[in-house]
Amino acid sequence: SGELSAQASASEQGYEGALRPTSLAEFVGQSKVRRQLGLLLDAATMRRHTPDHILLAGPPGLGKTTLSMIVASELDKPLHQTSGPAIQHAGDLAAVLSALTPGEVLFIDEIHRMARSAEEMLYLAMEDFKVDIMVGKGAGATSVPLELSPFTLVGATTRAGLLPNPLRDRFGFTAHLEFYSDDELSQVVSRASGLIEFSLSESGVDEIARRSRGTPRIANRLLRRVRDYGLVHDLPGDASTVQAALALYDVDDHGLDRLDREVLRAVVERFNGGPVGLSTLAVSVGEESETIEAVVEPFLVRTGLLSRTPRGRVATRLGWEHVGVEPPTAP
Ligand code: ATP
Repeated sequence: SGELSAQASASEQGYEGALRPTSLAEFVGQSKVRRQLGLLLDAATMRRHTPDHILLAGPPGLGKTTLSMIVASELDKPLHQTSGPAIQHAGDLAAVLSALTPGEVLFIDEIHRMARSAEEMLYLAMEDFKVDIMVGKGAGATSVPLELSPFTLVGATTRAGLLPNPLRDRFGFTAHLEFYSDDELSQVVSRASGLIEFSLSESGVDEIARRSRGTPRIANRLLRRVRDYGLVHDLPGDASTVQAALALYDVDDHGLDRLDREVLRAVVERFNGGPVGLSTLAVSVGEESETIEAVVEPFLVRTGLLSRTPRGRVATRLGWEHVGVEPPTAP
């Protein structure tokens, strides 16, 4: 997807790393999740016990990786990071699990994309801190139980609904991350601009926040583009510089990016406002259903431009107006 999409590119990870909050207190927004997690971690520390396994659910860029790092640092334990797509066989998972030290935090990003066989191994590991390793092949194969160090699993997924029930049920706590409010994003931007030593006016901060799609990763990314623009054109970090920079990168007034607009435009223009099914819609804009469902749709629904009905996705009146097409009037 495009330059300003919610996925992080490799080149960007250093920049993101530098901007990551390192404690719950520094983490902006998500106040409910912060309180819930804080309680879980405090209780575990008092009981001298590993906390329950934690599932973080929400669209990309809202801070799941950051929270997993915070969990480890608040527990003062090491963190091992991996991802569902990296676990293609039960053996991959066995290797990771058997190397964990007592109390270690294991972060599995995109946990819904793990191999089936590994998933089943994970059930037992989460419940009893044990795995059964298969030794030998064919009729002579036997399974050998292996004790693991107690650990805390932090799983991340774009939608909790993508997980099979037996896996979902083994998490003691599921945090649903929500899009950030404009105020919260302003705090993210102003904190980050201080860290990268780029001076931004208050209205410049708010202007970036408002166009960040409710997503801190995007806020940080837009900030970087605005910083570049200001540098090259020798302009101060104010609202008009922000507007000029973001116009260049196709971010509109509501923070919709190219793909958001394409999806909305397809619903209105090709499907006459809907209802249209997810997979039909995905094909018509040449994207994967999962991306539309996990990234685009939650944002369009949240901004009131699209609604989900049992028969499919429907553009709202606001959605029609955003595309600049007159909605049909009821007969
Ligand atoms: P993905 O699932 O795509 O990996 P994510 O949800 O794990 O995304 P992170 O990588 O944790 O997202 O966060 C993306 C960026 O946003 C990081 O640079 C981080 O510094 C910043 N960020 C996320 N949440 C917050 C927050 N609450 N306060 C300040 N900065 C944040």
